[in-house]
Amino acid sequence: MDLAVPLHGKVALVTGSTSGIGLAIAQALAANGAQIALNGFATPDEVQALVSDFEEKSGRRPKYFAHDLSKLDEASALVGAVTSEFGKVDILVNNAGAQHLAAIDEFPDEQWQRLLAVNLTAAFATTRAVWPQLKERGWGRIVNTASTLAFTAETRKAGYVATKHGILGLTREVALEGAEFGITCNAICPAWVLTPLVARQVDAKAAELQYSFEETARNYFLTDMPTRRFVEPGEIAAGVLFLCSDAARSITGIALPVDGGSLIV
Ligand code: NAD
Repeated sequence: MDLAVPLHGKVALVTGSTSGIGLAIAQALAANGAQIALNGFATPDEVQALVSDFEEKSGRRPKYFAHDLSKLDEASALVGAVTSEFGKVDILVNNAGAQHLAAIDEFPDEQWQRLLAVNLTAAFATTRAVWPQLKERGWGRIVNTASTLAFTAETRKAGYVATKHGILGLTREVALEGAEFGITCNAICPAWVLTPLVARQVDAKAAELQYSFEETARNYFLTDMPTRRFVEPGEIAAGVLFLCSDAARSITGIALPVDGGSLIV
């Protein structure tokens, strides 16, 4: 997808960018000139491959930050570490996300706490940390990866649904506080995207039903998608890219669905 947005001279931190949607967002921002800080779980070999591939495609070497966002002190320290490396952070994409499926009466404490930490508290911590420099420069872009589950619900996803609803509230609050300082904050809301996070759910359902992956995807995951196909990670990245552009400077506090029409059925 070719949507040119000049981001030369900008530094972008994308959390959860070692795979899936975050990786596509980081690639799109890099392709448009931004210097990238990567974050997320990966083995040293995977990091090396990721960084080399990135450099080859964008002509710019990203830096990887291993901070574990389930820990508040590491989430709070991440922006400082990126700023020490690149001098600043202009664009913050809070994308790291975790999922756990269990009925409400069986939802484990530690999973509830993990989802709250990764999906919501980390975004608060990185936003708080980046705030003074964005305010001082009078320009900033914050994009939070929410979900269509920020508007709807699904059984066995109490932690995920609660945190995705919560991130919309944080998005609106941050948008309000940043409005007069040239800082926008928006949420992007994907429906099903076939990333490792979703592939694990399709695999589990396929094993339970003894169906193939494709049958399970078609009959259980794409039934509420009018387009009957998964959204591509690059389509989410295109939305984020637009929200980071100067053209979107008056767009703040919104939740942008990229959902194949699933919210209208
Ligand atoms: P993914 O599993 O491919 O990527 C998740 C990323 O978050 C990975 O880089 C992972 O390492 C990172 N991460 C997880 N826990 C972390 C932690 N404690 N510290 C640092 N990094 C951590 O999944 P994805 O589908 O690309 O998900 C990205 C975002 O998109 C998530 O916020 C997810 O909720 C959201 N989302 C995904 C879909 C979908 O259908 N895939 C739909 C709606 C929203």
